[in-house]
Amino acid sequence: MKNPISWQGGNLSMLEALSLPVWVFDIDQKYVFWANPAALRVWGAHSLAELQQRDMSLDMSVSVAQRLCQYQQDFEREDASFVESWTLYPNGLPCVLKVAFRGIRVDGRMMMFCEAQNHLTADPASLRSAEALMHTSVLITLYDAAGRALYRNPSARAQVAHAGEAWRQHFIHDGDWQALQQGVAASGEARRSAQVCTRLGTRWHEIAVRACRDAVSGQDALLVSEVDITDLKHAEGRANFLANHDMLTGLPNRNGIRSDFLPYLQQALRDGRQVALMFIDLDRFKNVNDSLGHASGDELLIGMAARLTKLLGHDEKAARLGGDEFLVMLAAPEAAERADALGRGILQALGMPIRLGGMDISVSASIGVSVCRAGMLDIEQMMRHADLAMYAAKDAGRNNLMFFTPALEARTQAQLALESDIRRGLENGEFIAYFQPRVDVASGSVVGAEALARWNHPQRGVLKPDSFIQVCEDSGLILALGRQILAQAAEQQRRWREMGLDLMVSVNLSPCQFVDPALPAMVAGVLAGSGCQAERLELEITESVLLGHDDQTMCTLQALRGQGVRIAVDDFGTGYSNLAYLQRYPLSSLKIDRSFIADLDSTPAIAELIITMCRMLELKVVAEGVETSRQLEWLRQRGCQEYQGYLCSPALAAGEFHKLLL
Ligand code: C2E
Ligand code: CA
Ligand code: CA
Repeated sequence: MKNPISWQGGNLSMLEALSLPVWVFDIDQKYVFWANPAALRVWGAHSLAELQQRDMSLDMSVSVAQRLCQYQQDFEREDASFVESWTLYPNGLPCVLKVAFRGIRVDGRMMMFCEAQNHLTADPASLRSAEALMHTSVLITLYDAAGRALYRNPSARAQVAHAGEAWRQHFIHDGDWQALQQGVAASGEARRSAQVCTRLGTRWHEIAVRACRDAVSGQDALLVSEVDITDLKHAEGRANFLANHDMLTGLPNRNGIRSDFLPYLQQALRDGRQVALMFIDLDRFKNVNDSLGHASGDELLIGMAARLTKLLGHDEKAARLGGDEFLVMLAAPEAAERADALGRGILQALGMPIRLGGMDISVSASIGVSVCRAGMLDIEQMMRHADLAMYAAKDAGRNNLMFFTPALEARTQAQLALESDIRRGLENGEFIAYFQPRVDVASGSVVGAEALARWNHPQRGVLKPDSFIQVCEDSGLILALGRQILAQAAEQQRRWREMGLDLMVSVNLSPCQFVDPALPAMVAGVLAGSGCQAERLELEITESVLLGHDDQTMCTLQALRGQGVRIAVDDFGTGYSNLAYLQRYPLSSLKIDRSFIADLDSTPAIAELIITMCRMLELKVVAEGVETSRQLEWLRQRGCQEYQGYLCSPALAAGEFHKLLL
């Protein structure tokens, strides 16, 4: 039930007698608070009491309700009054009226005083268009030639900053107004998105303007329609930001630095300055990521990005290219000098310890620089050159800065040539497994052999892995090479058995091979094809393979162990020593890296520790690179089970190996 509200304004008797329908609408409670007899007729009500009982909110659309609230605020703010054609639906039947509205305060609340001026008898089409104008969310304003508003539809009224706002005042930037005016002058219409003043503050509107005549006065006028596109603009801005920035560090990404900074660099070059491009790659970032987890890796990248940007000057900009690769572009009178100084600063700053997961970690970086001194900026070429220089810096021992030189390019040419030579060699079967004996320390007898690849090159003779393994790894050819060596080793194992020799063979697996999902099937295929006993095959993986990717690593190891194959960890002690994984994975043997054996005289502690640990974990321990009987004696005393090394023999072709056993 409605609260009875006492009417405190003016004298009603005059209004009662008026032949024009007049009523007061309670906007808050959505019912007709008062109506004169003429209005009761319009509303089809027998009495005021009956009309007051009608709940108008029942079939009121959301937009009409919002509009009424707006009107209420307009009445409060600026004593507004306006005339609109309204369609009422008394008892469900449409009735079109031209109604003048103004505010009226009843008991302190703002209500709407409605005065029907006449029944509209316009044709249905114009009635409908008038309705559309009323209800559309498009803001429509008619301005006279001087830019004064002649008419605003309800949406425009709801948004306008103040009722007296002129056309030009609507704009935040006068240039937008000028552009629209020029467009209209030239072709009669214009369109633009612009920032405008509204009641809600500054908004983005898509504005269409058309020259027309005012239907009432016949004077020149402007019909302006506007749509609020602020949300769209924000979304667009955000999409742009996302497309141009790296979300982790907030630095521009490859796209971002190009669109922002390239035109600037081009100009710098035209102005006689030089441009340098620096590729920065954190050394061994993957290890940090793998051993401390991705969250720490992210934290490290954010910290590094912050240190990097701190060092940059005005004409310098940094971007993250992805992973642990950063790019710096700069312009300077002497770009090489500046890049050198900046690069040294960067190496020093990045090398400062950073606290991660309770530990102080130091990372080093490798930096490659390319410089353009004059002419056109060929950014693709500069990127390629900086990349090559960066790899050269890494090869030179990391924590290094290198400038691009044409010799580097020649080297890549040479690598490409080598790669195709290897491919040819693989097709021709030029890669041969040599075998280095594995010797039982206690008895001195040969119990197995490690297969080591050799390239029987038609021109260059027998080549060792250091001249081809890296290129194989980089090019993916290692998969084919690894399969060929494994197949030869497996064949050899079977042949030895046929000769009555029970020998283990061990074969090196590159990390690329290990992460290849086809590895277990490939190994199974080779075993089946060769007749090698699975328990007599050991695969040597490196420590790095065991760091990170836990689930995948475990699956692969289990798949291999499931076939009966043994797993050895090669070069143990040279990687990031996270010993926890040793017991987590199904491993069989551990090979002490030969550097520790070589250092036995000076620092025996590491080898000693490894041997003790292996005993506790029940892993077979194999010492590599044993060259002296002193070393062998030391190992014998510590209970090391097997060794390899020149003391017994280097790797030999299968025929030679056989002689060794006789
Ligand atoms: P690795 O697996 O650690 O192999 C041991 C290396 O030490 C071999 O070098 C071997 O000839 C050498 N060596 C053996 N005994 C001694 C010694 O007493 N003193 C010294 N100073 N060195 C000794 P190699 O054959 O040149 O192989 C180098 C590396 O190439 C291997 O290191 C292995 O990582 C890789 N490699 C060789 N064959 C293959 C292969 O078929 N597949 C893969 N993925 N890698 C291979
Ligand atoms: Ca090995
Ligand atoms: Ca090794």
